[in-house]
Amino acid sequence: MKACAPKDHLHFPNEVQLQEAREAAFAQTMDLVFERHPFYRERLANLKLKRADFRTLADLQRLPLTTKAEYMATPQRFVLENEGLPLEMQTVWDTMYTTGSTSGRPTPFVSTSYDFFNILELQRNMLLLRGVTQQDTIANLFPITPTPHGAWIRVLHAAASLNVPVISAMPGNPSPYFHLGNGLDQVVHLIGNSAATILWGVPSYIQRLVMRAIELKQRWPAVRLVFVTGEALPETARSQMQQALEQVGAKAARISISYGATEMQGGMVECAPGAGLHNPLPTQMLVDVVDAQTGQSLPDGHSGAVVLTHLNRRGTLLLRYALGDFSVRTQVPCPHCGVVTDRLVQTPRRVDAMVKVKGMLIHPEAILTSLDQQLGATPYLLSVRSVAPDQPLSGDRLVLQVEGPRDPERATLLTDQVKQACGVTPEVHFEATGALATSASGWKAKKFVDLRAAH
Ligand SMILES: [Zn+2]
Repeated sequence: MKACAPKDHLHFPNEVQLQEAREAAFAQTMDLVFERHPFYRERLANLKLKRADFRTLADLQRLPLTTKAEYMATPQRFVLENEGLPLEMQTVWDTMYTTGSTSGRPTPFVSTSYDFFNILELQRNMLLLRGVTQQDTIANLFPITPTPHGAWIRVLHAAASLNVPVISAMPGNPSPYFHLGNGLDQVVHLIGNSAATILWGVPSYIQRLVMRAIELKQRWPAVRLVFVTGEALPETARSQMQQALEQVGAKAARISISYGATEMQGGMVECAPGAGLHNPLPTQMLVDVVDAQTGQSLPDGHSGAVVLTHLNRRGTLLLRYALGDFSVRTQVPCPHCGVVTDRLVQTPRRVDAMVKVKGMLIHPEAILTSLDQQLGATPYLLSVRSVAPDQPLSGDRLVLQVEGPRDPERATLLTDQVKQACGVTPEVHFEATGALATSASGWKAKKFVDLRAAH
């Protein structure tokens, strides 16, 4: 079936084929897990579960959820022991890193050559679902980072998988040992000169680029797709980006959202706006939605924790891994593209732990949702800081920094908004344009940080 499919056409199995392929992959994965997976082998022994207890995929629910904290504590124990396997399954092709937790330590995710071949297939499916053709040219707008991550490098691999050209604009200089980065204006000109048809990066940076392109009177009529990942893109920001794109002549450009994770080595993508986020490789990756308390799978249409299971990996392998977001799943064939796969039909929401500020428990995500509505694409950063950073028992400050000219009226409005969302009064500061650009250590613009020493 696969061998006959043209390379530039999307080819997904039907419902029956998908079920069969998943069961076969699951059986093989459980053989490997019992024999070669240090973390799960121990967990299964503790639970007194045997290989025979996992006859079909439905039995996967016997296994409790794996948390990010468990994976981050001992990432090497999630890599299969590969002695005796074929060369492709033994050789480490690359190691990517998660963007880190609140502790800031990135976690390695190991892929063998075998895994990398499958990642190419996943990336190709992502492009095809998003409507990329072999006439397209991609502008890679992710920065190089101090630790390799799956954004910058996988764009190159995605382009390779479909034999399309890619221009890496190399924005910024994220390390004192790296000297090849380009400034904003250089990147704007690179895009113009390349006649790229696809812009691919984080939304806050793309918005900054398009705004600068307008100032520089650039025309980008060739741009027809904008792939955004890594940060939420609220509706207000999406329409602002759409308007800005129109001003550079990219009138018909479509903004395509994805839900990516290092643990997927890619992301779930939309085939059309509002069509839901599609799992791009359903025979090898299972996306489930479960009750966060009990860990049991929920029927489609119910909101719960998003859980990822790898069905065909030889490096890092995760089963029932909670990605830390809430959403709603459906497996109904997509009404737009017809593909049968897991689709998340609600924008995944991060379930951050509550944070204590000035003695009050606050939910940062709720404040950010409220600020997103007010500020749209304007860059901002909400932070908790110590009044006196060198004193362990010093009080807390909630600080909201917003790019833009000083505006007392706006400051009052924003102060009220934050107070209403969490009960704590923030200090509001206005910063110069670009002051809150993506920090050197990461590639996503964080909107909330806890800067207190004890955290
Ligand atoms: Zn679709």
